[in-house]
Amino acid sequence: MTHRPTVSIQSLGGIPNFEKQTSITGSAHVLTYKALAKKVEQEIKVLLDMGSFGDNKINIVDQLQIEGIGDLSQLDAVIISHVHNDHLGNIIQLIKAGYTGLVYMSHTSKAIIQPILYDMLALASVEHDLIISKNTKFGIKADKMLSLVESYEKDKHGYEKSHHKHAKQKKQKEVTEEEYLRAKEFLKKYNINYNSDIVKSYLPVPDLPFEEEDIIQFLSQIRSFDKEEDYPLVTKEGLKLRAKFYEAGHIPGAVQTILKFGYDPYNSGAQHQLLYTGDLGRLKEPEIVPEPSLVKEKVDLTLMESTYGNRIHQERGTDQERLIENITTAQDLFMLPAFSLGRGPEVVKLLIDAIDIGTLVLGEGEKIFVDGKLTKEIAMRLLERDPQTYKFLTHPAIKFIDSTHHRKQIYEQEGRKIVIASGGMMQGGSSVPIANKYMSDKNAVFSTVGYQAYGTWGNYLQNNKGLVYTADRFKQMKNKIYHHEYTIEKIINREAQEAILISGQGTKELITILGDLYKLFTTHKYREHIQLQDDEYIYIPQRFWEDERRGSSTIKKAESFLKKYDTEVYHYFYDKIKIIDEDTDYDDDKKYIPTGPGIHIFWDLIGKKYMNSKMDHYSSFSGHADRDELIALLEGNRQKKNHTTILVHGEMPARKELSEHIQKNRLIPNKTILPELYDVLTFDCETGKLIEHKKEE
Ligand SMILES: [Zn+2]
Repeated sequence: MTHRPTVSIQSLGGIPNFEKQTSITGSAHVLTYKALAKKVEQEIKVLLDMGSFGDNKINIVDQLQIEGIGDLSQLDAVIISHVHNDHLGNIIQLIKAGYTGLVYMSHTSKAIIQPILYDMLALASVEHDLIISKNTKFGIKADKMLSLVESYEKDKHGYEKSHHKHAKQKKQKEVTEEEYLRAKEFLKKYNINYNSDIVKSYLPVPDLPFEEEDIIQFLSQIRSFDKEEDYPLVTKEGLKLRAKFYEAGHIPGAVQTILKFGYDPYNSGAQHQLLYTGDLGRLKEPEIVPEPSLVKEKVDLTLMESTYGNRIHQERGTDQERLIENITTAQDLFMLPAFSLGRGPEVVKLLIDAIDIGTLVLGEGEKIFVDGKLTKEIAMRLLERDPQTYKFLTHPAIKFIDSTHHRKQIYEQEGRKIVIASGGMMQGGSSVPIANKYMSDKNAVFSTVGYQAYGTWGNYLQNNKGLVYTADRFKQMKNKIYHHEYTIEKIINREAQEAILISGQGTKELITILGDLYKLFTTHKYREHIQLQDDEYIYIPQRFWEDERRGSSTIKKAESFLKKYDTEVYHYFYDKIKIIDEDTDYDDDKKYIPTGPGIHIFWDLIGKKYMNSKMDHYSSFSGHADRDELIALLEGNRQKKNHTTILVHGEMPARKELSEHIQKNRLIPNKTILPELYDVLTFDCETGKLIEHKKEE
């Protein structure tokens, strides 16, 4: 072991892992500072951001355990850069798992975090309640039948044959042979085998991921401090860690964090300074949120986001004009889905400014609808915290819509309806029902702003390809990474069903539906449209099947859900599923229902036939800096001689291109590292040099 202080960085998320696909999708990085204090090695461990909640992948707590941090008291501090789900998402799970330390964030983040957490809880509760309400009847019956069979067999053979808990616990009365045979038949009919995972999974109702008390507990563990204030985070056996926030310009409250490690960084200067950028906003185009700050202290190491490391955004001015023009020409609906935080309020401000200077003219009684309960709650908190900046939210043209019931006001408005709706990528939120209603309307205009993840409807609209993929295309797509974070129940409408029906009739094209298996099972409603013949099956590539099994028991959840919900359908699908390996040739005469990439194909199908509305995308409204802006920010920061930039939070092409451009640029040091998920990078604090790059097996 070296006696020189080191700092190690390990990313648990924010980097796609093509091979394993088991990563949490959001950013989460573990920092470990090691140094000798009083001749004994001590360490400070900090977690930077928390990854996404609700994506069915491995939970952050499990992930920490895999990486050797099972004991959460090893963590000395948690820092949240901003309150987007992909940075904040798993925080409650961490608290629930026993993290009792402090969680640091900016004052603004603290001011708006509560409604975001309650929104996450509400989303989780919907699915939970559905399972409870649907499973009871069948579950009780199946349970009873199992007990009968088990207790009969136990009496008969004189030993305990299974692990079924009810048979063990309850003293049963004598089971007759007739009862036994009837129960056996029932179990056979529904394919219930007490040794299988399936039956074990239908009994318990899954726990809610967290409850209100957990939120309250978490709120008490938050500490917030001002930007550009040097704040002491951890003091431990002579080792110290201080932090300072800088504006990140991404959404309200988003900060970049400087971490200063050393024996006494306050008095004698930090021994090692690391900058974690979190997500960075645009330079020169600030609307509400200021532009990101240049960091004035000399840093050794930068951990930088790279979402748009391979893109150059439009100038704001032309986008702004096009936006107003699109609204002006819309005869029926103009809808722009935007995140409750950041893009939503920003676009609203643009429209209010346009009204004030007369470039946007509203008719008598015409409103700008801002749809989304969370959007409204966040807006009110921002207004309270900073009345000057958010004064536009009180403009009389704005009408907040915060329930399905009140949404009627949009539909009932005569003539043009201008709507800024929640669900920025249209994978959920109020933009989905509104889009469903208007998607085949020639007089409707849809717009997207900001990053649209692959597989979301927003991504489809943005690209507007209108293609139907063939089996070959599907094969090509298999190796990519897919996002599927939406609720299919909410998205599929009558038109979509028709699209499936049409594509399936007498064609050799794919029938394509859905993202992951859980959603595949819930497609039972549309089975009459799919009408698989006896020799037709649903083919699922081996890798997706295994991924789902490895994930947080998604398949079991789906099986349990469907079993209770509709056993007939469950068997229909279960009999029809065939797992095929990667190299199997697809037979053109068969119908396929791919999962994973299926969702994107699905939108293409619908889009080809039904999407008549006009679509537009405004890249300048992005909440993320583009390639040149990221480089300008990096260049503007003060850096030590052996400075290194680690590129995280971006797809590989974005990170690669950004890295190449950083290397080409002579004004900044040219060392960049593109780690893979779970790699551990260790730096010597005195020289700033990388001393070890450990790869995960
Ligand atoms: Zn973000």
